[in-house]
Amino acid sequence: MSSVLGLESMHKETQAIHATNLVDETAGAIATPIFLTTTFTRDVDGSYPKGHMYSRNSNPNRDALEKGLAALEGGAEAFAFASGLAAVSAVLQCLSSGDHVLMPAVGYYASVKLAEEIMGPWGLQMTQVDMEDLLAVEAAILPNTKLIWIETPANPLLSLTDISAICDLAHARGIRVAVDNTIATPILQNPILLGADIVMHATTKYIGGHSDILGGAIIVRESDAWSARLKRVQILMGATQNPLDCYLLARGLKTLPLRMREHSASALELASRLEKHPAIEQVHYPGLASHPQHALALRQMPRGFSGMISIQIKGDEANARLVAGRLRLFQQATSLGGVESLVEHRRSIEGPESTTPGNLLRISVGLEHVDDLWADFEQAL
Ligand SMILES: *Cc1c(COP(=O)(O)O)cnc(C)c1O
Repeated sequence: MSSVLGLESMHKETQAIHATNLVDETAGAIATPIFLTTTFTRDVDGSYPKGHMYSRNSNPNRDALEKGLAALEGGAEAFAFASGLAAVSAVLQCLSSGDHVLMPAVGYYASVKLAEEIMGPWGLQMTQVDMEDLLAVEAAILPNTKLIWIETPANPLLSLTDISAICDLAHARGIRVAVDNTIATPILQNPILLGADIVMHATTKYIGGHSDILGGAIIVRESDAWSARLKRVQILMGATQNPLDCYLLARGLKTLPLRMREHSASALELASRLEKHPAIEQVHYPGLASHPQHALALRQMPRGFSGMISIQIKGDEANARLVAGRLRLFQQATSLGGVESLVEHRRSIEGPESTTPGNLLRISVGLEHVDDLWADFEQAL
């Protein structure tokens, strides 16, 4: 349907609504029906007339979600998984024993742990490197380096990595680049258009958007031997996304452009007000002129800076935890990207190995009115 409409040349708002649809031949439903079926009938000649055989291999709802994600990222194909981490592991499983991967020094804790704890014993070699330091990245590349994994913006300081610069460096050596684009979403940043080979999303976060689904996705720039292997990993490892969750995620995609606009506008407003508050030591938000990589943010995510802010409270860890406890609209919980605002004391979640400052709170700005969110901070600070 997307090619009939010419969606490729249309805006993200239009793609988000129409690239996720299926044509329902049974009743002409406008909303996509949910195909809660494990298996599909064969014709008398043994063929599968509708193209589906078994729901681990493919399902109409997964197709709709994958088609929408590929369209929004400008990729050739997408693959949906049962969680963000299942998507990360699928990419790592495309590598072979003895291959080397570079992972960010600062990034989603569990992605790095997966490469180290689970893939390490299977023979994957991994080095963590500061991705902001291109010389350090270059120096860390080994003859067997096959993949550079980056995350931008990254937890918990919302630091950025220059996607184009990393891609130039990697591609000159025949190395692939994968980008965890969870925080920016396909609305605010498109790594494939900046040169990346692979994009990963924890659809658990903004794409689901309502804190009720775990999911992950991979989008590839090209259909090639790598994407064919990814498809085999998806089917044979079996961590696929169920039809109901695919339906909900495809529905989430439809309002994603609108939600990201509002998350971004409220976060920028809150970050600007927080920056002027006497109880705040520092605000980390890529949309602020004070962010050390603000120029890169403008270049790489020109449509908005998403809804994540980290703040350092004046005083110590106890002080920061006191503020988190006093907030009322911001509920204390891990995760991000939902309609409700959340606050999290990162260091105590990450445990004793954490290098996150003790006075840091990470905020996921929801879709409540920004004045109510600000009033909550004023009383808590
Ligand atoms: C949440 C998250 C993940 C992991 O997703 P899960 O669905 O929890 O497995 C990976 N990367 C980033 C940046 C995340 O925020």
